[in-house]
Amino acid sequence: MIMDCSKYVGKCVCGREHTLETKMVVVEYGATAKFEEYMEAVGLAGKRRAVVYDSNIYALTEGKHVKADQEIVLPSQGLRSEDVLIEDMMKQLDNIEVIVAYGAGTIMDFGRYPAYKLGIPFVAVPTLASSDGFTADICSVILEGQKKSIPMVAPVLVVADLDIIKGAPKRLVASGVNDILSKYISLVDWKISHIVDGEYYCPMVADLSAHALQIMRKAADDWAAGGEPDHEAMTMAQMESGLTMQLLHHSRAASGAEHLMAHLVEMKPPRFENAEGIHGECVGVGTFACCKEYHRLAKKTPKAKKFEPLTREWITEKFGERLADGIVKENENDVLGTFDPQNIVDHWDEIVELINTIPSVEEMEGLYKAINAKYLPEHIGIDPALGDEMLHISAAIRNRLTLVRMERVLDFE
Ligand SMILES: [Zn+2]
Ligand SMILES: [Zn+2]
Repeated sequence: MIMDCSKYVGKCVCGREHTLETKMVVVEYGATAKFEEYMEAVGLAGKRRAVVYDSNIYALTEGKHVKADQEIVLPSQGLRSEDVLIEDMMKQLDNIEVIVAYGAGTIMDFGRYPAYKLGIPFVAVPTLASSDGFTADICSVILEGQKKSIPMVAPVLVVADLDIIKGAPKRLVASGVNDILSKYISLVDWKISHIVDGEYYCPMVADLSAHALQIMRKAADDWAAGGEPDHEAMTMAQMESGLTMQLLHHSRAASGAEHLMAHLVEMKPPRFENAEGIHGECVGVGTFACCKEYHRLAKKTPKAKKFEPLTREWITEKFGERLADGIVKENENDVLGTFDPQNIVDHWDEIVELINTIPSVEEMEGLYKAINAKYLPEHIGIDPALGDEMLHISAAIRNRLTLVRMERVLDFE
């Protein structure tokens, strides 16, 4: 399938004018064989090109490489998205006008970051579809020793060859499903925040995210019923979800309370030292925890409670000295303090209706089990005894309005 991205661009019902760096997304069997055709279609043919691989992918995709003026194969061993490593690679670039990153998530940053620094276009040839970062314009790199999510350029062209992608281990396929099923929660969080706090909301982008969710859910159901994974549908879902981030220049439509579980696992605060898992798996655990929590809340009626900022004591207790400063800083201008908590109570019926669009706990659990996806804390090395607390701790990691964060101004007694 070839996605023409121009239909999302321009004046929108939300009042904004949306733009996209990405002109074309190709998700097809044998796509790399037609690479030159696609480069031509987006006006990049004839530009002096570097193609960047890591050594593993280079060996695995033999026979499917694309033409290059300069080919760079980085050693897979020790490769990570870190500014010093990327800048080292940049020194090798020889009068390059376009960078093609060929590989999984890490190698994308070796295309994205130099393209951004040099002001030249970047093309992605993803070899995996286990998360939705490929079409996004955000990247997660280690800068001066600290992991940061920073704005970055998106690819002008994405060429996903399903002959390569279909070779992914089932664990990664399940992780990819999980990254998209999370939209059940993130979309509800965004809509609630729009209702109670007037946060900017775009129905077109929300629909695109919901569409990605819908096609992934169907593919997951078919897989659960005993079929083979539909890699085309699953990859398209990832691409659409990534585009929502590019359209908004932030991840609101793709990441809510559930995604913070992935950050928690990465940060490893006290008691979470053994937590580990790939992105989609951690997100799956967050999604299932939110599913349970939101349905539980929907059965009750809250009263509004006065906003109290998080205390340094609480933060230090939950995050330890090492992380406390960063969390304190993140919560300095707590979004919870920017509106009247009574708004939540006044709109509770609407909120319950939104929660009811999230599948039931039983339905989600049945699906996760059938596709062998991770969804419980113990699946990612978290003590199940922390199951109730982990959502509230993770909610402090990012100053973004989610229903989990809102629980601090609600009394459900
Ligand atoms: Zn819009
Ligand atoms: Zn994600």
